[in-house]
Amino acid sequence: MKFGSKLLHNGNEMDKQTGALSIPIYQVSTFHQEDIENGQEYDYSRSGNPTRKALENTIAKLENGDRGFALGSGMAAISMVLSLFSANDHVIICEDVYGGTYRIASKHYNRLGLEISFVNATDLDEIKRTIKPNTKGLFVETPSNPLMKITDLRACVEIAKEHHLLTIIDNTFMSPYLQRPLDLGFDIVVHSATKFIGGHSDVVAGLIVVKGEELARKTYAIQNSFGAVLGPQDSWLLLRGLKTLKVRLDYQQKNAQIMAEWLANHEKVEAVYYPGLESHKGRETHFNQADGAGAVLSFKTVDTETATRFMKKVRMAAVAVSLGGVETIVSYPVKMSHAGMPKEERDRLGISDNLIRVSLGLEDIEDLIEDFDRSLE
Ligand SMILES: *Cc1c(COP(=O)(O)O)cnc(C)c1O
Repeated sequence: MKFGSKLLHNGNEMDKQTGALSIPIYQVSTFHQEDIENGQEYDYSRSGNPTRKALENTIAKLENGDRGFALGSGMAAISMVLSLFSANDHVIICEDVYGGTYRIASKHYNRLGLEISFVNATDLDEIKRTIKPNTKGLFVETPSNPLMKITDLRACVEIAKEHHLLTIIDNTFMSPYLQRPLDLGFDIVVHSATKFIGGHSDVVAGLIVVKGEELARKTYAIQNSFGAVLGPQDSWLLLRGLKTLKVRLDYQQKNAQIMAEWLANHEKVEAVYYPGLESHKGRETHFNQADGAGAVLSFKTVDTETATRFMKKVRMAAVAVSLGGVETIVSYPVKMSHAGMPKEERDRLGISDNLIRVSLGLEDIEDLIEDFDRSLE
Protein backbone atom coordinates (compact mmCIF):
# COMPACT_ATOMS: atom_id res chain seq x y z
CA MET A 1 0.00 0.00 0.00
CA LYS A 2 1.32 3.44 -0.87
CA PHE A 3 1.72 6.17 1.73
CA GLY A 4 -1.41 8.21 0.93
CA SER A 5 -3.65 5.16 1.26
CA LYS A 6 -1.85 4.09 4.42
CA LEU A 7 -2.73 7.41 6.04
CA LEU A 8 -6.40 6.40 5.75
CA HIS A 9 -6.20 2.60 5.97
CA ASN A 10 -3.74 1.46 8.59
CA GLY A 11 -5.94 -0.56 10.92
CA ASN A 12 -6.54 2.33 13.32
CA GLU A 13 -9.00 4.40 11.32
CA MET A 14 -12.21 2.93 12.70
CA ASP A 15 -13.83 2.28 16.07
CA LYS A 16 -14.08 -1.52 16.05
CA GLN A 17 -17.15 -1.61 18.32
CA THR A 18 -19.41 0.75 16.40
CA GLY A 19 -17.82 1.16 12.98
CA ALA A 20 -17.51 4.92 13.59
CA LEU A 21 -15.13 6.34 10.97
CA SER A 22 -13.47 8.51 13.58
CA ILE A 23 -11.89 7.16 16.75
CA PRO A 24 -13.93 8.28 19.78
CA ILE A 25 -12.27 10.65 22.23
CA TYR A 26 -11.96 8.53 25.39
CA GLN A 27 -12.00 11.43 27.83
CA VAL A 28 -11.32 9.26 30.86
CA SER A 29 -8.67 8.77 33.52
CA THR A 30 -9.48 5.31 34.84
CA PHE A 31 -11.21 2.08 33.72
CA HIS A 32 -13.45 -0.35 35.61
CA GLN A 33 -11.73 -3.69 36.14
CA GLU A 34 -14.01 -6.69 35.67
CA ASP A 35 -11.67 -9.07 37.36
CA ILE A 36 -8.82 -8.00 39.61
CA GLU A 37 -7.05 -11.33 39.17
CA ASN A 38 -6.48 -10.87 35.45
CA GLY A 39 -4.98 -7.73 33.99
CA GLN A 40 -6.78 -5.89 31.19
CA GLU A 41 -5.46 -3.64 28.44
CA TYR A 42 -6.53 -0.33 29.99
CA ASP A 43 -6.56 0.61 33.66
CA TYR A 44 -5.32 4.20 33.86
CA SER A 45 -4.88 6.77 31.08
CA ARG A 46 -1.26 7.64 31.85
CA SER A 47 -0.43 3.98 31.20
CA GLY A 48 -2.73 3.72 28.20
CA ASN A 49 -5.74 5.40 26.60
CA PRO A 50 -7.63 4.04 23.56
CA THR A 51 -7.59 7.33 21.62
CA ARG A 52 -3.89 7.84 22.28
CA LYS A 53 -3.26 4.18 21.44
CA ALA A 54 -4.90 4.59 18.00
CA LEU A 55 -2.56 7.51 17.33
CA GLU A 56 0.49 5.64 18.64
CA ASN A 57 -0.30 2.62 16.46
CA THR A 58 -0.86 4.88 13.45
CA ILE A 59 2.45 6.74 13.71
CA ALA A 60 4.29 3.42 14.28
CA LYS A 61 2.78 2.11 11.01
CA LEU A 62 3.62 5.29 9.09
CA GLU A 63 7.26 5.29 10.21
CA ASN A 64 7.56 1.50 9.72
CA GLY A 65 8.48 1.09 13.38
CA ASP A 66 7.49 -1.38 16.09
CA ARG A 67 5.92 0.95 18.61
CA GLY A 68 4.77 4.55 18.82
CA PHE A 69 4.42 6.90 21.79
CA ALA A 70 2.48 10.16 22.05
CA LEU A 71 3.68 12.89 24.40
CA GLY A 72 2.51 16.32 25.48
CA SER A 73 5.01 18.18 23.26
CA GLY A 74 7.93 17.61 20.93
CA MET A 75 10.23 18.58 23.79
CA ALA A 76 8.58 16.00 26.08
CA ALA A 77 9.31 13.37 23.40
CA ILE A 78 12.94 14.49 23.01
CA SER A 79 13.49 14.75 26.78
CA MET A 80 12.06 11.28 27.24
CA VAL A 81 14.32 9.80 24.59
CA LEU A 82 17.39 11.42 26.14
CA SER A 83 16.43 9.85 29.46
CA LEU A 84 17.12 6.43 27.91
CA PHE A 85 20.79 7.24 28.61
CA SER A 86 22.55 7.12 31.98
CA ALA A 87 25.00 9.33 33.86
CA ASN A 88 28.50 9.21 32.33
CA ASP A 89 27.17 8.11 28.94
CA HIS A 90 28.37 10.32 26.09
CA VAL A 91 25.90 11.43 23.43
CA ILE A 92 26.77 13.20 20.16
CA ILE A 93 24.21 15.74 18.92
CA CYS A 94 24.30 17.84 15.73
CA GLU A 95 25.19 21.46 16.50
CA ASP A 96 22.30 23.00 14.56
CA VAL A 97 19.74 20.91 16.44
CA TYR A 98 16.41 22.50 17.50
CA GLY A 99 17.05 25.17 20.17
CA GLY A 100 14.97 23.39 22.82
CA THR A 101 16.95 20.19 22.31
CA TYR A 102 20.19 22.13 22.68
CA ARG A 103 18.87 23.65 25.91
CA ILE A 104 17.59 20.46 27.59
CA ALA A 105 20.78 18.60 26.65
CA SER A 106 23.31 21.28 27.61
CA LYS A 107 21.56 22.79 30.63
CA HIS A 108 19.68 19.86 32.17
CA TYR A 109 20.88 16.40 31.18
CA ASN A 110 24.45 17.68 31.24
CA ARG A 111 23.94 18.63 34.89
CA LEU A 112 22.64 15.11 35.61
CA GLY A 113 25.88 13.61 34.34
CA LEU A 114 25.16 12.97 30.68
CA GLU A 115 28.16 14.01 28.61
CA ILE A 116 27.16 15.82 25.41
CA SER A 117 29.19 16.88 22.36
CA PHE A 118 27.72 19.08 19.64
CA VAL A 119 29.20 18.41 16.20
CA ASN A 120 28.73 19.44 12.60
CA ALA A 121 26.99 16.21 11.57
CA THR A 122 27.31 17.02 7.86
CA ASP A 123 31.02 16.28 8.42
CA LEU A 124 31.20 12.51 8.98
CA ASP A 125 34.85 12.68 10.03
CA GLU A 126 33.92 15.07 12.81
CA ILE A 127 31.37 12.54 14.10
CA LYS A 128 33.98 9.75 13.98
CA ARG A 129 36.60 11.90 15.73
CA THR A 130 34.16 12.70 18.55
CA ILE A 131 33.34 9.07 19.41
CA LYS A 132 34.85 7.92 22.73
CA PRO A 133 34.69 4.64 24.67
CA ASN A 134 31.62 5.88 26.61
CA THR A 135 29.74 7.21 23.54
CA LYS A 136 26.28 5.65 23.51
CA GLY A 137 24.15 7.74 21.18
CA LEU A 138 23.99 9.88 18.04
CA PHE A 139 21.17 12.44 17.65
CA VAL A 140 20.69 14.23 14.32
CA GLU A 141 18.23 16.45 12.50
CA THR A 142 18.09 16.78 8.71
CA PRO A 143 17.35 19.07 6.95
CA SER A 144 18.46 21.24 9.84
CA ASN A 145 16.87 24.42 11.09
CA PRO A 146 17.08 27.12 9.76
CA LEU A 147 19.78 26.63 7.08
CA MET A 148 18.55 23.26 5.77
CA LYS A 149 21.93 21.55 6.09
CA ILE A 150 21.84 17.90 5.07
CA THR A 151 23.23 15.00 7.12
CA ASP A 152 23.84 11.66 5.41
CA LEU A 153 21.59 9.26 7.35
CA ARG A 154 22.91 5.98 5.91
CA ALA A 155 26.48 7.04 6.68
CA CYS A 156 25.43 7.90 10.27
CA VAL A 157 23.92 4.42 10.68
CA GLU A 158 27.11 2.83 9.38
CA ILE A 159 29.28 4.74 11.88
CA ALA A 160 26.82 4.06 14.71
CA LYS A 161 26.67 0.30 14.01
CA GLU A 162 30.43 0.06 14.21
CA HIS A 163 30.44 1.69 17.64
CA HIS A 164 27.10 0.31 18.98
CA LEU A 165 25.48 3.72 19.25
CA LEU A 166 21.74 4.28 19.57
CA THR A 167 20.67 6.42 16.60
CA ILE A 168 17.99 9.07 17.04
CA ILE A 169 16.59 11.52 14.49
CA ASP A 170 14.28 14.48 14.84
CA ASN A 171 12.14 14.01 11.69
CA THR A 172 9.87 17.03 12.27
CA PHE A 173 10.75 18.93 9.06
CA MET A 174 10.13 15.97 6.74
CA SER A 175 7.36 13.95 8.45
CA PRO A 176 7.03 10.21 7.67
CA TYR A 177 5.60 11.09 4.26
CA LEU A 178 8.90 12.48 2.99
CA GLN A 179 11.52 10.65 5.09
CA ARG A 180 11.42 7.32 6.95
CA PRO A 181 14.71 7.01 8.84
CA LEU A 182 13.86 3.65 10.47
CA ASP A 183 13.96 2.12 6.98
CA LEU A 184 17.52 3.46 6.69
CA GLY A 185 18.56 1.77 9.95
CA PHE A 186 17.84 4.41 12.58
CA ASP A 187 16.60 3.15 15.98
CA ILE A 188 14.38 6.05 17.09
CA VAL A 189 12.41 8.79 15.34
CA VAL A 190 11.05 11.79 17.25
CA HIS A 191 8.61 14.43 16.04
CA SER A 192 7.27 17.72 17.13
CA ALA A 193 3.77 16.74 15.97
CA THR A 194 2.89 20.39 16.61
CA LYS A 195 4.21 21.04 13.10
CA PHE A 196 3.35 19.08 9.91
CA ILE A 197 1.67 16.09 11.58
CA GLY A 198 -0.95 18.18 13.40
CA GLY A 199 -0.70 20.61 10.52
CA HIS A 200 -3.25 23.21 11.62
CA SER A 201 -1.42 25.27 14.27
CA ASP A 202 -3.92 24.14 16.90
CA VAL A 203 -2.15 21.54 19.04
CA VAL A 204 1.20 21.05 20.81
CA ALA A 205 2.30 17.40 20.77
CA GLY A 206 5.24 15.03 20.39
CA LEU A 207 5.64 11.55 18.94
CA ILE A 208 8.28 8.84 19.20
CA VAL A 209 8.62 5.69 17.10
CA VAL A 210 11.14 2.97 17.92
CA LYS A 211 12.36 -0.15 16.18
CA GLY A 212 12.93 -3.39 18.11
CA GLU A 213 10.99 -5.07 20.92
CA GLU A 214 13.52 -4.40 23.67
CA LEU A 215 13.74 -0.70 22.86
CA ALA A 216 9.93 -0.58 22.67
CA ARG A 217 9.64 -2.09 26.19
CA LYS A 218 12.26 0.27 27.61
CA THR A 219 10.67 3.33 26.00
CA TYR A 220 7.20 2.36 27.23
CA ALA A 221 8.49 1.98 30.79
CA ILE A 222 9.93 5.50 30.58
CA GLN A 223 6.75 6.95 29.02
CA ASN A 224 4.67 5.48 31.83
CA SER A 225 7.10 6.74 34.50
CA PHE A 226 7.88 10.10 32.88
CA GLY A 227 4.14 10.75 32.60
CA ALA A 228 4.19 13.50 29.95
CA VAL A 229 1.51 11.71 27.90
CA LEU A 230 -0.70 13.35 25.27
CA GLY A 231 -4.34 13.87 26.24
CA PRO A 232 -7.19 12.20 24.32
CA GLN A 233 -8.49 15.43 22.72
CA ASP A 234 -5.09 16.33 21.35
CA SER A 235 -4.51 12.72 20.25
CA TRP A 236 -7.74 12.94 18.25
CA LEU A 237 -6.65 16.22 16.65
CA LEU A 238 -3.45 14.54 15.46
CA LEU A 239 -5.36 11.54 14.09
CA ARG A 240 -7.51 13.98 12.17
CA GLY A 241 -4.56 16.08 10.98
CA LEU A 242 -2.64 13.02 9.80
CA LYS A 243 -5.32 12.02 7.31
CA THR A 244 -4.46 14.98 5.09
CA LEU A 245 -0.68 14.93 5.62
CA LYS A 246 0.04 13.90 2.03
CA VAL A 247 -2.28 16.35 0.28
CA ARG A 248 -1.14 19.18 2.51
CA LEU A 249 2.55 18.50 2.03
CA ASP A 250 2.25 17.90 -1.71
CA TYR A 251 0.66 21.32 -2.11
CA GLN A 252 2.88 23.11 0.44
CA GLN A 253 5.97 21.60 -1.13
CA LYS A 254 4.92 22.80 -4.57
CA ASN A 255 4.43 26.28 -3.13
CA ALA A 256 7.87 26.09 -1.48
CA GLN A 257 9.56 25.14 -4.76
CA ILE A 258 7.94 28.03 -6.65
CA MET A 259 8.73 30.46 -3.84
CA ALA A 260 12.36 29.26 -3.58
CA GLU A 261 12.91 29.76 -7.31
CA TRP A 262 11.20 33.15 -7.27
CA LEU A 263 13.29 34.32 -4.30
CA ALA A 264 16.51 33.04 -5.90
CA ASN A 265 15.90 35.43 -8.81
CA HIS A 266 14.96 38.45 -6.69
CA GLU A 267 17.46 41.33 -6.63
CA LYS A 268 16.93 41.94 -2.89
CA VAL A 269 17.75 38.31 -2.04
CA GLU A 270 21.33 37.22 -1.49
CA ALA A 271 20.84 33.47 -0.91
CA VAL A 272 18.08 30.85 -0.68
CA TYR A 273 18.37 27.63 1.34
CA TYR A 274 16.06 24.89 0.05
CA PRO A 275 16.95 21.30 -0.93
CA GLY A 276 14.66 21.63 -3.96
CA LEU A 277 17.10 24.08 -5.58
CA GLU A 278 19.81 22.65 -7.87
CA SER A 279 22.36 24.83 -6.10
CA HIS A 280 21.59 23.49 -2.59
CA LYS A 281 24.56 21.91 -0.83
CA GLY A 282 23.73 18.32 0.10
CA ARG A 283 20.84 18.13 -2.38
CA GLU A 284 21.99 14.79 -3.78
CA THR A 285 22.35 13.26 -0.32
CA HIS A 286 18.93 14.61 0.63
CA PHE A 287 17.16 13.03 -2.33
CA ASN A 288 18.94 9.74 -1.64
CA GLN A 289 17.20 9.53 1.72
CA ALA A 290 14.02 11.61 1.31
CA ASP A 291 11.14 11.74 -1.16
CA GLY A 292 10.81 15.51 -1.37
CA ALA A 293 12.33 18.84 -0.42
CA GLY A 294 9.64 19.73 2.12
CA ALA A 295 7.82 22.98 2.72
CA VAL A 296 10.33 24.99 4.76
CA LEU A 297 12.97 27.28 3.26
CA SER A 298 15.20 30.11 4.42
CA PHE A 299 16.61 33.09 2.60
CA LYS A 300 19.02 35.94 3.23
CA THR A 301 18.22 39.44 2.03
CA VAL A 302 20.92 41.78 0.71
CA ASP A 303 21.07 43.62 4.06
CA THR A 304 19.58 43.61 7.56
CA GLU A 305 17.25 46.57 6.90
CA THR A 306 15.57 44.71 4.05
CA ALA A 307 14.97 41.71 6.33
CA THR A 308 13.53 43.71 9.23
CA ARG A 309 11.40 45.79 6.83
CA PHE A 310 10.12 42.55 5.24
CA MET A 311 9.08 41.20 8.65
CA LYS A 312 7.16 44.44 9.36
CA LYS A 313 5.48 44.69 5.97
CA VAL A 314 4.49 41.08 5.33
CA ARG A 315 0.70 40.71 5.62
CA MET A 316 -0.68 37.43 4.31
CA ALA A 317 2.00 35.31 5.98
CA ALA A 318 1.80 35.09 9.77
CA VAL A 319 4.85 36.17 11.76
CA ALA A 320 5.32 33.34 14.27
CA VAL A 321 7.85 30.86 15.66
CA SER A 322 6.16 27.66 14.56
CA LEU A 323 5.94 25.95 11.16
CA GLY A 324 4.10 23.20 9.30
CA GLY A 325 0.62 24.74 9.55
CA VAL A 326 -1.92 25.29 6.77
CA GLU A 327 -1.03 29.00 6.82
CA THR A 328 2.27 30.42 5.63
CA ILE A 329 4.46 31.41 8.57
CA VAL A 330 7.57 33.58 8.43
CA SER A 331 10.04 33.88 11.27
CA TYR A 332 13.15 35.91 11.97
CA PRO A 333 15.54 33.43 13.67
CA VAL A 334 17.95 35.92 15.33
CA LYS A 335 15.09 37.54 17.26
CA MET A 336 12.86 34.47 17.61
CA SER A 337 13.93 30.80 17.55
CA HIS A 338 17.67 31.51 17.97
CA ALA A 339 17.54 34.59 20.20
CA GLY A 340 18.87 32.52 23.11
CA MET A 341 21.98 31.46 21.19
CA PRO A 342 25.14 33.59 21.76
CA LYS A 343 25.87 35.88 18.79
CA GLU A 344 29.32 34.35 18.11
CA GLU A 345 27.71 30.92 17.88
CA ARG A 346 24.99 32.22 15.55
CA ASP A 347 27.64 33.88 13.35
CA ARG A 348 29.66 30.68 13.22
CA LEU A 349 26.58 28.73 12.08
CA GLY A 350 25.54 31.39 9.53
CA ILE A 351 22.38 32.48 11.35
CA SER A 352 22.72 36.16 10.47
CA ASP A 353 20.60 39.31 10.89
CA ASN A 354 19.40 39.13 7.27
CA LEU A 355 18.03 35.56 7.54
CA ILE A 356 14.31 34.79 7.25
CA ARG A 357 12.65 31.36 7.53
CA VAL A 358 9.45 30.54 5.68
CA SER A 359 7.05 27.62 6.18
CA LEU A 360 4.77 27.52 3.16
CA GLY A 361 1.05 27.01 3.66
CA LEU A 362 -1.93 26.29 1.45
CA GLU A 363 -2.54 29.78 0.06
CA ASP A 364 -2.49 30.43 -3.67
CA ILE A 365 1.16 31.03 -4.48
CA GLU A 366 0.38 34.12 -6.63
CA ASP A 367 -0.98 35.89 -3.53
CA LEU A 368 2.03 34.92 -1.43
CA ILE A 369 4.47 36.12 -4.10
CA GLU A 370 2.61 39.42 -4.34
CA ASP A 371 2.84 39.78 -0.54
CA PHE A 372 6.56 38.92 -0.51
CA ASP A 373 7.33 41.18 -3.50
CA ARG A 374 5.66 44.16 -1.83
CA SER A 375 7.43 43.40 1.47
CA LEU A 376 10.87 43.16 -0.15
CA GLU A 377 10.54 46.54 -1.89
C1 LIG B 1 9.13 22.71 17.29
C2 LIG B 1 10.23 21.72 17.21
C3 LIG B 1 10.57 20.93 18.33
C4 LIG B 1 9.90 21.12 19.68
O1 LIG B 1 8.60 20.68 19.65
P1 LIG B 1 7.43 21.27 20.62
O2 LIG B 1 6.23 20.56 20.13
O3 LIG B 1 7.40 22.75 20.40
O4 LIG B 1 7.81 20.93 22.01
C5 LIG B 1 11.57 20.00 18.18
N1 LIG B 1 12.22 19.84 17.00
C6 LIG B 1 11.93 20.58 15.92
C7 LIG B 1 12.68 20.36 14.66
C8 LIG B 1 10.93 21.54 15.99
O5 LIG B 1 10.67 22.29 14.91
